[in-house]
Amino acid sequence: MKESKYIWFNGQLVPWNEAQVHVMSHALHYGSSVFEGMRCYKTESGRALFRLECHTRRLLNSAKLYRMPVKFTESELNAAQVDLIKQNDLISAYIRPLIFRGTGSIAVDPGDACKIEVIIAAFEFGAYLGKEGLENGIDTCVSSWQRVGSATNPALSKAGGHYLNAYLVGEEARRNGFDEGISVNARGLISEGSAENLFLIRDGIIYTPPLSAAILGGITRHSAMVLAEELGYQVIEQDMPREMLYLADEIFFTGTAAEVTPVRSVDRLDVGNGKPGPITRAIQDAFFGLFSGKTEDKWGWLTHV
Ligand code: PMP
Repeated sequence: MKESKYIWFNGQLVPWNEAQVHVMSHALHYGSSVFEGMRCYKTESGRALFRLECHTRRLLNSAKLYRMPVKFTESELNAAQVDLIKQNDLISAYIRPLIFRGTGSIAVDPGDACKIEVIIAAFEFGAYLGKEGLENGIDTCVSSWQRVGSATNPALSKAGGHYLNAYLVGEEARRNGFDEGISVNARGLISEGSAENLFLIRDGIIYTPPLSAAILGGITRHSAMVLAEELGYQVIEQDMPREMLYLADEIFFTGTAAEVTPVRSVDRLDVGNGKPGPITRAIQDAFFGLFSGKTEDKWGWLTHV
């Protein structure tokens, strides 16, 4: 992570190194935070935030699910993110808004004793699973850890505490020599990668687990579904057993950080012929085409700043 000039902190621009919180912040003890991850891309016609409104809406929905009242409106948060990119002179960047319970109480349920703090950071950022991964695909395994589920936590909330689960999935995978782990849910059905949604292709049809499979409602997932349909493919949201991973012709991950990353193996079994397949490539090209200008942004997904 490359430091930038300012962090937006409760409505003020604060120098990066001065954006500090107290060690007794509730979120530090109990994981009581919600956050977003969004990218700013260099495009043909200047820099642009990708799906700003969707990300801010999901951020506020995540806060709602954890009953955290936020004193900034959706439009104020959108404007703050645009301004931060400009003030930090960033072009290709990752934007990280975070809402968390600050100090005021050590109780797990602090009522309204802890101030709800809001920060936004923005900094330069490259390919998350590596350029090589985007090009040739990555090696994955099915995790021994289940994905956090709706019977224990609201899985649709992008909450800090949920990422202890994501950490265990990713750490276990990398410790065992894989690039990423895939979780099943409490019913043993395919859920998602530690920080990516999953798509698999069989006989020319694209399948992805539904929201009820304990996934995060990914914004790149939605974008990929729209682009795939635009390209004429059928996309089916469907529960799938683990073994579909082993029988798929193609698999790919989507995510703000991962973008559209092909999966070339699962549990040391090649996906198809072990190389990114044609449908994955078509969706990847359509996705990156949004920023090169090859794909028309019919949906208003880009906010030029
Ligand atoms: N699932 C999880 C658990 C994630 O953390 C992410 C990254 N935000 C995703 C899926 C992909 O979501 P998006 O495309 O909105 O980044």
